[in-house]
Amino acid sequence: MKKFSRILIANRGEIALRILRACRELGIESVIVHSVADAGAGYLDLADRTVCIGPGPSQQSYLDISRIIAAAEVEDVDAIHPGYGFLAENVQFAEICKSSHIEFIGPGVEAIAFLGDKGKARELAREVGVPCVPGSTGILENEDEALKIAQEIGYPVIVKAVAGGGGRGMRVAHNDITLKNGYSQAKIEAETAFNNPDVYLEKYVEKPRHVEIQILADHHGEVVHLGERDCSLQRRHQKLIEESPSPGLPPEVRDEMGVAAKKLVKAAGYTNAGTVEFIVDKDFNFYFIEVNTRIQVEHPVTEMVTGVDLIKEQIRLASGERLGMTQDDIKTKGVAIECRINAEDPADNFRPCPGKIGQFRAPGGYGVRLDTHAYAGYTVPPNYDSMIAKLIVYQETREEAINCMRRCLDEFVIEGISTTIPLAQEIFKHLNFVAGKVNTGFIEEYFLD
Ligand code: ADP
Repeated sequence: MKKFSRILIANRGEIALRILRACRELGIESVIVHSVADAGAGYLDLADRTVCIGPGPSQQSYLDISRIIAAAEVEDVDAIHPGYGFLAENVQFAEICKSSHIEFIGPGVEAIAFLGDKGKARELAREVGVPCVPGSTGILENEDEALKIAQEIGYPVIVKAVAGGGGRGMRVAHNDITLKNGYSQAKIEAETAFNNPDVYLEKYVEKPRHVEIQILADHHGEVVHLGERDCSLQRRHQKLIEESPSPGLPPEVRDEMGVAAKKLVKAAGYTNAGTVEFIVDKDFNFYFIEVNTRIQVEHPVTEMVTGVDLIKEQIRLASGERLGMTQDDIKTKGVAIECRINAEDPADNFRPCPGKIGQFRAPGGYGVRLDTHAYAGYTVPPNYDSMIAKLIVYQETREEAINCMRRCLDEFVIEGISTTIPLAQEIFKHLNFVAGKVNTGFIEEYFLD
């Protein structure tokens, strides 16, 4: 087993800070790369070392593999943590890390490549008996095949990019005409966004819940799951609020989902942390949709209910350590809810609102965790994702967690830029949310025209 002494963090913002903190507690030095647009950001002061890797646009910095590898070599690191987004699921990056003898903190190259193709992941799920949404086997050859399958399984259907992510390259169709358009639009969008026009087709499940299972796997064949996260509160397929456990999910369904998730990742030869995503219909039938081969934004809710630090586990597992736990050791307790705070104006169609933060008053108190790199005087750069904070509450019951979140949102002051706090305040007051009646159409239905 190798012990890492220095890790390069190939990311920015709150997740870079989150990883840095884990490294510090593990006695590992951290090197954070940053762009010119992020120079001067407060979290960089906490790193042992920093390296500027290029100008603001991600293509020339956080997505530039050669610059990141050069920084890793100059800084003589043992491993790279990619965080989420940017290069976290990039096969070429993981391969280059491997050939440069730098440990990539994540699954192996083969697992990223295989599961990153949603069509292949779906086929594997089918083979091992994990339920999938009815639809095409493999990629669609042409428009006629799409129409034929849609007629067999019935409308509505959804066309999805095999290389998809971030809700892009997806089109819902309710009849032959919209499917013809959706098929070509999804292909164009997939080609532009992912350089791969391949698409597949699934039955569109009306108003499902999005429920995902967190897994951890070591290099010695041990795999555990750490329960579920309900991420149904989404806008345009982008998650806004996540919680664990999923409200009202029957315990036997949770167990079945956990078993299914473990079966799938075992079949894929998976190691490190990962998430198996499902959609769940109103009768609690669950269907596999994809595997995310990285740490996710919403990982803190799982940490709070299980007491397992997922980032430290990622680092330990990448160094070859055995999982220090079996399935029986994992007990969840209490309720955790995360609310993403974005620098966007919900009153103006979620227009991004970069700029300088004036006053910043963070909420606190019992059971409150705030993962953020923002502070009074911090300037949110226009180049990147608009998420500036994750507010996580952890309480004994869901009712207490909701009350705590409301109190925190009322305390939270971020001046100078618009944020999604006012929308979150409304959601946490909504009777259907309070009653746990959530689905992926919730925000569109109650809060947007
Ligand atoms: P991405 O990789 O872009 O995040 P996913 O496959 O994870 O795409 O899907 C994102 C979201 O899209 C899901 O959380 C869900 O809200 C919706 N979705 C995906 N597939 C279906 C489906 N077959 N029926 C209904 N909603 C779906």
